[in-house]
Order: sequence, then C-alpha cells, then structure tokens
Amino acid sequence: MLSPTLSQKELFSLLQLIKDCRNVVVCSHRGPDGDAMGSALGWAEYLRHLGKQVSIIMPNPCPDFLRWMPGAQNVKFYTEAAEESDRLIKQADLIFLMDMNSVQRLQEMGAAVEKAKAKRVIIDHHLNPDTNAELVISRPKMSSTSELVLRMLYQMGGYEQMTRSGAACIYTGMMTDTGAFTYNSNDPEIYVCISLLLQKRIDKDRIYRNVHNNYSEHRLRLQGYILHKKTEFYEGRRAAILTLTRDEMKEFKFVRGDMEGVVNMPLQVRGMRLSISLREDTEKDVIRVSLRSVDDFPCNKMAEQFFNGGGHLNASGGELPFPMEEAIETAKRAIEAFKDQLYGVKEETKKD
Ligand code: 5GP
Ligand code: MN
Repeated sequence: MLSPTLSQKELFSLLQLIKDCRNVVVCSHRGPDGDAMGSALGWAEYLRHLGKQVSIIMPNPCPDFLRWMPGAQNVKFYTEAAEESDRLIKQADLIFLMDMNSVQRLQEMGAAVEKAKAKRVIIDHHLNPDTNAELVISRPKMSSTSELVLRMLYQMGGYEQMTRSGAACIYTGMMTDTGAFTYNSNDPEIYVCISLLLQKRIDKDRIYRNVHNNYSEHRLRLQGYILHKKTEFYEGRRAAILTLTRDEMKEFKFVRGDMEGVVNMPLQVRGMRLSISLREDTEKDVIRVSLRSVDDFPCNKMAEQFFNGGGHLNASGGELPFPMEEAIETAKRAIEAFKDQLYGVKEETKKD
C-alpha cells in the first residue's frame, strides 16, 4: 500500500494552515510543465472540495499540448492577466508554491508574491528548497510533485472525493516528469499511485496521446530539421548541443511546447551521456538552456556552474544572456569542464 509521506508535524501544520485560510492562490514555476500544471490542478481540486476559494496562477502560459487538461482553461497566466493576478495574490491568505523550490522561479510574478501578506507553503521535489516559507514539504527523491500531491491527498483523506478530472491531472504530471515512466521511476509505490488513479477511471493511454501525439505537422518537420541540421555531437558522441533561433521558430510556425522532448532525442544515440539544448527565448532576450543526461552525469551541477540554473541530476535548465554564438561557446566550455564525467561510466554498469 501507499506509505504515509507527511510527518505528524507536517500534517498538523498543513491542516492548521488550511483550516485558517479562505482565499488561496496555487501557483508554480515559469514555463509550467505537466507536473507544474498537474500538481497545481490536483491540489486545487482538493482545496476547493474543502470549501476554499482557490485561484491557480502561473507566471506565463503553459504549452499548447497541456491545454486539454481538465481545469486548464481556468488557470490564469500572469503575463496575460497581471492586474487580476496581483489582486488575487494580495487578497490571498495562503499561497501554495508547487513544483518549485524558490520564489525566484516565479520571475516577474515573484514580486507580487514576496509582497503578499499570505503565508506560503512549498510543495516540491527539487533539491535545496527555499526555507522562506511557513511550511516546506520537500521530497527530492520523489519523481514528481504530482505524485507527492496524490500521496498527501491519500494520507489526508482526500482520495475518496478526488474526481476523474483531478486524477487525470495528477497522472499527467507523474507521466511527464518521468518520460512516461521511462526514467526516475523505479520506486514500486509509483505504480501503487497509478493503480489508485486508474481506479478513478482515467484513460492513461489517451492521456499519453493527448500529450505526445498531438503536435502540428510544423512541429514534426521542425524536429527533423533540428536533428538533421542543428545538432552537433562532441567527445566521441557522448555529448551533443542543439540550437534553435527565433528566425527558425518563425519559419516552422513555432508554438509554445514545440521543443518539448527534443532535447532528449540525441540521447538515443549509443553511448550518449549529455544533451544540451540552446533556444532563443520568445519573450526575453535570453537563451533558454535545457540539459538532459543519463546515469550519474550531474546536469544540475553543470546548470549551476555554467547556465545560471539548476534542477535535477538528469534534467536541468537555466538561461544565458544573448547572443546564441556566445551561448554555444559557453556550452562547449561546459562540456570540456565536465569531460571526465562524460567518460565516467564503467562498461559493466551500462549493461542493465
Ligand atoms: P526544462 O529543460 O524542461 O526547462 O527544465 C528541466 C528541469 O530543470 C526543470 O524541471 C527544473 O527542475 C530545472 N530548471 C529549468 N530551468 C531552470 C532554471 O532557470 N533554474 C533552476 N534552478 N532550475 C531550472
Ligand atoms: Mn516536477
């Protein structure tokens, strides 16, 4: 069965904070992914069931391939509704920060949250959480914040009332943060969670298709273009850098989310350990960096040292100042600096 995740102390303070609040804001990080959306929507459903007034606000819009998520149409995006969001944040007496370890990841929306009178609760699975919150529920070993939310709900007696929609959102977050359970997903209890969600009659196969097989023709061709023309391999095909500029995005009618998963593709080549994606941001003059690795290659250390970011061991991100040529040079220097780790795997450990 599902073992309890919250300590008695955490449970007590969480219940107390919820009991004392009326207006709640649930938010997550800039560039909301499946886990950001899934954990926020799943948690918000529970709070609404308890009679709370809940608004979900994300710093900027989620990718198109997540718009189908039940409840996503009611999520507010700060870049599109700053005034209303500021008002809701100001009125809130409790703010939940989901799937993020620091207010910095809210970017422009962070100032409003910092100013707010509301108490803050972090519910997250990233390393090194910011302790500037009333309560920090941090589980870096957990594969997704959505899994954490499900386990909390289960422990708090919220599973019974969970709807099929809420379950679909939580499943989406669990699925997207584990590459559809192909990495970071060896904990047997993950499958107890999935079983509990299936008992809510979610259609997991359809959820997979909604997320992964729902792209435009342009996106398919963009992917082919990047792999054919814009991916360079280094260090005997152990590392790769792929790049995308705004002009190319325009050419391929880029929409938010079209680059999702592309950074993983070079890792399909035998022996590959690290993939770096450099993409010109569509909103700001920065290069968005995504890092993916396999085994023990520490993307997060590389992101911290070279790309003003952080993240998980095998999936991290960050950003670099414009322009692209300099970003490519930085990425090459990062590969050079981490050369030893690129050759770090012993043959026998690669077998399983
Ligand atoms: P992605 O490559 O999908 O944008 O990000 C992968 C992971 O890296 C995210 O789940 C998050 O943990 C981390 N990450 C991405 N961007 C940043 C960033 O700018 N700062 C930090 N600290 N972590 C990031
Ligand atoms: Mn996550």
